[in-house]
Amino acid sequence: MVKEIAKDDKELYQCEECGLHYAKKETAEKCEAWCREHKSCNLEIIKEAVKTENF
Ligand SMILES: [Zn+2]
Repeated sequence: MVKEIAKDDKELYQCEECGLHYAKKETAEKCEAWCREHKSCNLEIIKEAVKTENF
């Protein structure tokens, strides 16, 4: 299940399969569905990921 993370005034959504963070819940859900099914990441999806070092 996609994990919601609230930090300051921002909300991020984490794919629990690969651990990447997304600004949009639907993108995180897409990533998670893909990761679970394919056991790999979809480049088209992960380019939407938020870099957590700035988080
Ligand atoms: Zn993922």
